[in-house]
Amino acid sequence: MHGFPDDNTSLGDLARIVLDYSKERLELDPVPLDRPLSPEELGQQAGETITPHGLGGHRAMDLFAEVLAPACLSVDHPRYLSFIPCAPTEAAAMFDLVVGASSIYGGSWLEGSGAVYAENQALRWLADLAGMPAEAGGVFVPGGTIGNLSALVAARWSARREATEGARPFRVAASSGAHSSIGSACEVMDAEFTPVPTDDGGRLTGSRLREVVLEHGPENFFAVVATAGTTNFGTVDDLAGVGEVCREFGIWFHVDGAYGGAGLAAPSVRRLYDGIEHCDSFIVDPHKWLFAPFDCCALLYRTPAIARAAHTQHAGYLDVLTEAPEWNPTDYSVGLTRRARGLPLWFSLATHGTQAYADAVERTLSVAAFAAEEIERREELELVRPRELTVVVFRRRGWSPEDYKRWSDRLLEQQVGFVVPTSHEGETLARFAIVNPQTTPEDVLTLLDSMR
Ligand SMILES: *Cc1c(COP(=O)(O)O)cnc(C)c1O
Repeated sequence: MHGFPDDNTSLGDLARIVLDYSKERLELDPVPLDRPLSPEELGQQAGETITPHGLGGHRAMDLFAEVLAPACLSVDHPRYLSFIPCAPTEAAAMFDLVVGASSIYGGSWLEGSGAVYAENQALRWLADLAGMPAEAGGVFVPGGTIGNLSALVAARWSARREATEGARPFRVAASSGAHSSIGSACEVMDAEFTPVPTDDGGRLTGSRLREVVLEHGPENFFAVVATAGTTNFGTVDDLAGVGEVCREFGIWFHVDGAYGGAGLAAPSVRRLYDGIEHCDSFIVDPHKWLFAPFDCCALLYRTPAIARAAHTQHAGYLDVLTEAPEWNPTDYSVGLTRRARGLPLWFSLATHGTQAYADAVERTLSVAAFAAEEIERREELELVRPRELTVVVFRRRGWSPEDYKRWSDRLLEQQVGFVVPTSHEGETLARFAIVNPQTTPEDVLTLLDSMR
């Protein structure tokens, strides 16, 4: 296997089929939306793929290209507007192949200094967008869920170190619009999620937060989570007000920008994030709105030394790393072994420059603005909340939950788009999440026309 290939698996052969496939996939226009198959259908079409003597590279690749890949939705399809899509640049997607081929251990400076240097420059760009200080730093982790958990673990470590004798801060405050991963992190940590009622715009504000913190005792909180772009509505919390309350009571201020953090790059919406510069930690998923492939979340800390103390794993076999003064990414999050998963983003940033990122984010914002205006113009449609970023939530007057489901199923069935409904306060609603610069106003019109 390693350097002893037969004809069917020689390096030249495998390189050709893998690189050709990748290039062709990236050149497809339009990309196919594709559809899920049942286990039975896949069993019939793909059969047993793992055999004692192997299928050979050609046969395995054919199986992937003809059966398995068409059974996976293309998240970069311009009318895939469900959840939060992912639309990597070609540079980022291609560089993912390079990362795989390069056998880099991205956990320590000793083993991966070049990769860590590059990743840190990409992190620095994000820290600068957020206005974090020069000492800020962090690590690319698999996703917002691990990013939020890692930040909260550091926050609790810090709060318990500083707490008065006997005090054990155990609460996390966040709005009810916070992402499900915050509740999940609290479960994992055996912490108490303390919901804060939002204002009429669905925003966590300083004054509401203050009331809740005082009610439950400031000494019991180890973190407040503000969301910079909620998943369901794209709402940015009152970061300045929330940060002020955190400073007043000495509570760790975490900003979850997994989706919306990318808006920092767009001058037209930058003011929504005012106050983020005071955060103790911040996450943004480049695999959402910053055009990197899965899986990639940037996690940043104002004072990395705290996170390092909270997360570093200690063992005799790691001493050579943990006792070194250099930057070891692995020391800043949950997890040890790590892929240098920030490199695809780095390569794309290095290739295109940051202005191209600002332009691409602005393009999605203008298409989302177009969608919102078009919805307001149409009798049968109604915006549920004013649009802030690139999530647009609206109702089709007169539709039942079954109508939304039939509409969504039909769009997928006819390969027009992938747009699943959402729900809010018990009501089923339509929702577009636009993070793909290839999504056009015409795509929006096609989808809205399908709701007549
Ligand atoms: C998507 C999202 C997360 C979770 O990120 P994953 O990368 O899916 O783990 C957390 N917070 C917000 C606001 C999100 O939109």
